[in-house]
Amino acid sequence: MPNRDLLAEIDALRAELAAQQRTIPALPAEHDGNAITWRPWEQAPVALCRIDNGCHQCDQPGPLMLAFGLTTERGERGPRIRYNAHRCPACQEMRVYRRYPVTEEIAYNPPQTGDSNA
Ligand SMILES: [Zn+2]
Repeated sequence: MPNRDLLAEIDALRAELAAQQRTIPALPAEHDGNAITWRPWEQAPVALCRIDNGCHQCDQPGPLMLAFGLTTERGERGPRIRYNAHRCPACQEMRVYRRYPVTEEIAYNPPQTGDSNA
């Protein structure tokens, strides 16, 4: 006979996990027919960051989260970093850029505001 407390705890953990998975927006899996392999999100190094350290949407002081995307295009032997993504760890606003040949925004995820002062 199943333990009700245990089942309730499992349900609560599942709900928590689902909420966490919802809050981080998905990175694009491909662009222009090339599959993108994303490195894990990391804190953007402040000294190297050409963008503002904080978030304009929610006043999160930063640093923002940064991820690099790699593709292997026709005729190449190995993957190269061609994309980067910036994400606010608080409101999850996310912008994805292709870096070459010109910097171009390819995806945008609006902030998920949970409060009313946005
Ligand atoms: Zn934010």
